[in-house]
Amino acid sequence: MKSKLIWSVIAVAVFIGSAVAVLQEYKSGIVWPEPKVVAPGETSSMPPSDAVVLFDGKSLDAWTNGANWEIADDHAVSKKSDISTKAKFGDCQFHLEFATPEKVTGSGQGRGNSGIYFMGRYEVQILDSFNNKTYFDGQCGSIYKQTPPLVNACRKPGEWQIYDIVFEAPKFGSDGKVTKPAYLTVIQNGVLVQNHFELKGTTFFDQPASYAKHDDRAPINLQFHGNPVKFRNIWLREIPPIIGEAPKK
Ligand code: MG
Repeated sequence: MKSKLIWSVIAVAVFIGSAVAVLQEYKSGIVWPEPKVVAPGETSSMPPSDAVVLFDGKSLDAWTNGANWEIADDHAVSKKSDISTKAKFGDCQFHLEFATPEKVTGSGQGRGNSGIYFMGRYEVQILDSFNNKTYFDGQCGSIYKQTPPLVNACRKPGEWQIYDIVFEAPKFGSDGKVTKPAYLTVIQNGVLVQNHFELKGTTFFDQPASYAKHDDRAPINLQFHGNPVKFRNIWLREIPPIIGEAPKK
């Protein structure tokens, strides 16, 4: 009986050990200076007339797994799983408002964590980075594990914050190699935190960024990372290229 118990303990330890080995965390190793704190001014932004409204405070019907999140008053609260847009998008101007939990629990990456994954791959981090230290290229406004925000423009936990983001999708050749990288410009609470940053590829937790060829359009994901983060007023505008015609000679 006793040896059976010992073998079960060993089996559980081996199982946990192998699970940890699979998810060994990658860190960029780059020593970044700490982003300066900037107090944002008043901001707000309702959808313009040509916007695709993804969440108006009432329904998450535009999202796969939207039913996993709770809708309360004028906002949604992240729960159970990530959600992803049913429609697919490439280049876009994206607007989202979020609030990390007012009741502060956890620390580092465990405090108010979520994120916006453009094309399901490229994460703009959402985190409570108000007096909450973590690695700088993983704090709020970072391109996860690629670059810190230019400054820390976070409001206090529980306060509504705004992301206005311009995303440019990468392009790939027929050989699968990237011919034009993805770019992200991010304004948080009216403050520029990413200025046309050239992405090195998919943002991973456990490995350095790299590109893998994908379609021109893909869903946008919002992350559930175990914390009840609130969201409201989510919309985007697609950015079709402007094609002009030269006068005939
Ligand atoms: Mg995240």
